[in-house]
Amino acid sequence: TERTFSIIKPDATKRNLTGAVNAVIEEAGLRIVAQKRIQMTRAQAETFYAVHSERPFFGELVEFMTSGPVVVQVLEGENAIAKYREVMGATNPANAAEGTIRKKFALSVGENTVHGSDAPETAAVEIAQFFAGNEIV
Ligand code: ATP
Ligand code: MG
Repeated sequence: TERTFSIIKPDATKRNLTGAVNAVIEEAGLRIVAQKRIQMTRAQAETFYAVHSERPFFGELVEFMTSGPVVVQVLEGENAIAKYREVMGATNPANAAEGTIRKKFALSVGENTVHGSDAPETAAVEIAQFFAGNEIV
C-alpha cells in the first residue's frame, strides 16, 4: 500500500465541491487517511510549487493557490500515486478522460480542481510539508 498527497484547490472549495471530489476519490478505492481545510500562505504555496518557480505561470499559480481555502489530504491505497493521477485526469481539462475529476469539475489548465503527487519522493516531501505523522490515521 502507498500514500499520496492531494490538494482540493480553491476553484473547487469556492464552488462547494469538496464532497463531490471526495466521492470520486473514495469511489476509486482510495482512502482519505488525513484531511484539513486551510488557507495557504504565499510562502507555503511558493515552497510547495518551488519546482515551477522559473515557469511563466508561477506567479499566477501562487496567486490562485492562495486565493481561497484549499483542502490538503493524504490518500492511501494500492498504487495510490499512479491511481490518483489517473483519477484526476490530464492537467488541462480539455485533454482529461471521461469520468476523471478534472473532466468533471476543472475550469481551465490553471483552475484544475486538484493536485496529486507525481512520484514517491515528492509524495513524502509534500505530505511532510502539511501533516505530522500522528495526524495520518
Ligand atoms: P499538479 O502538480 O497540480 O498535480 P500536474 O502535475 O498535472 O498538476 P504540473 O505540470 O505539475 O501539472 O503543473 C502544476 C500546476 O501548475 C497545474 O496543476 C496547474 O494548476 C498549473 N499550471 C500548469 N501549466 C499551466 C499553464 N500553462 N498555465 C497556468 N497554470 C498552469
Ligand atoms: Mg505536478
